[in-house]
Amino acid sequence: MSFINLDLSNEEIIKKYFNDLCCDDYTDPLIKGGQTYADNALNSLDIQNYAKTRNNVLPIEKRGSTYISPYIRHGLISLPEVWSFVEKFEYQDKTKFRDELLWQEFSRHLYAIVGKNSRNYLNYSIKSNKNNHNYQNMNCIDSIKTELESTGYMVNQTRMWFASHFSLRDGNNWRNYEDYMFKHLVDGSRFANRLGWQWVMGSQTGKIYGFSKFQVDKRAKSLCNTCVVKYDCPIQNWPEEVSITKKTIEFDLNPEINFGPKSVKNNIDSKPEFVWLTAESLGDNDPALNYYSNLPAIFIFDKPLLKYLQLSTKRIIFLLDCLKELANKRELKIYLDDPIEFLNGKNFGSTFAPVPKYKKITKKNIPTVEFPSTRLVEPINFYPSSFSSWKKRIELKI
Ligand SMILES: Cc1cc2nc3c(=O)[nH]c(=O)nc-3n(C[C@H](O)[C@H](O)[C@H](O)COP(=O)(O)OP(=O)(O)OC[C@H]3O[C@@H](n4cnc5c(N)ncnc54)[C@H](O)[C@@H]3O)c2cc1C
Repeated sequence: MSFINLDLSNEEIIKKYFNDLCCDDYTDPLIKGGQTYADNALNSLDIQNYAKTRNNVLPIEKRGSTYISPYIRHGLISLPEVWSFVEKFEYQDKTKFRDELLWQEFSRHLYAIVGKNSRNYLNYSIKSNKNNHNYQNMNCIDSIKTELESTGYMVNQTRMWFASHFSLRDGNNWRNYEDYMFKHLVDGSRFANRLGWQWVMGSQTGKIYGFSKFQVDKRAKSLCNTCVVKYDCPIQNWPEEVSITKKTIEFDLNPEINFGPKSVKNNIDSKPEFVWLTAESLGDNDPALNYYSNLPAIFIFDKPLLKYLQLSTKRIIFLLDCLKELANKRELKIYLDDPIEFLNGKNFGSTFAPVPKYKKITKKNIPTVEFPSTRLVEPINFYPSSFSSWKKRIELKI
């Protein structure tokens, strides 16, 4: 078991504990971790003109995206909080923005039901006509990679370009590129990332999102203007036709297994000795943390998982900053270990997380007391085959 000393600087921690667990050299993320940064981001959230500017890519000052995704992804800001905060904005912007929050919740619902099956095509199998074009020196793709690797952030528009390019035109296996994005995105989550890829490839809806010079010209003209292949652009045209075949996917609709308890659940007749925190819910308002305000908290960096994932240091630094701030407010210990072994035989309280890893860990180590996760929409008992059909049947929880 390796106890991580949070008094060390992030550089020292990365060097000492994460040396062989990351894919890159020390790189600070653009978006800083911590509840204070998250609160500031929420309190200064301005979605005026969001509906018109959300898809802008360059120049950066013209972007309408809010950059709050890492806080939402790690539970420092909840979806219901953001939903309520934007009430004061114009109808058009508020509606568009809230629709995106619903996409985030939709991705969580879908992942809660299909879990690791999201690695495979969802509702449609896709066969694209990969070709032998030379896709080198493209400013659009190169600049996306540079921004992602140096900041840990991408706007939705470039995420779509990247996913379309590497699933429908170039590359042999979309999952390698999905992994690459997941490693570097500070908001990287399997639910939203995989849904994004599935949507773009057409395996979720049956319709592909094609990427060509058209979008770059429209949303980031300067990239084309300075591109060395400007007059020989390999993506001048839309991707070639792909073959799309309907398929079925296996899932289980048990709401308690998929979405966890609806109310606080005492699983074992005993008292928790600490709160186990997960990366899904690192905010001060985490239900278990809030309830047991006098108990110590514990966070475990999952060593075997990190060894396998090889995340970027940007993601680890974001988490460290969140944890350092929390450690100033209450007793918190951080370990680098296998959570399945660490939690064995211990009494702990936790907040349910609708992700396969949490389910696997708590199957072997049942939490003494388990809290429902904070959510925007009530759990569902049907397979959400499309966003629009899901939206028609859901019940908001605010
Ligand atoms: C291929 C691909 C991969 C993606 N990977 C991720 C990922 O790993 N993690 C992640 O959080 N989002 C992912 N998204 C969704 C979306 O691109 C990001 O949430 C958004 O770009 C984050 O930046 P923002 O906070 O500035 O967004 P804003 O436009 O300001 O949106 C506000 C919030 O709404 C939610 N949201 C916006 N668009 C979407 C969307 N299309 N799907 C789901 N939620 C959305 C996010 O929580 C976001 O923070 C992906 C999209 C695609 C197409």
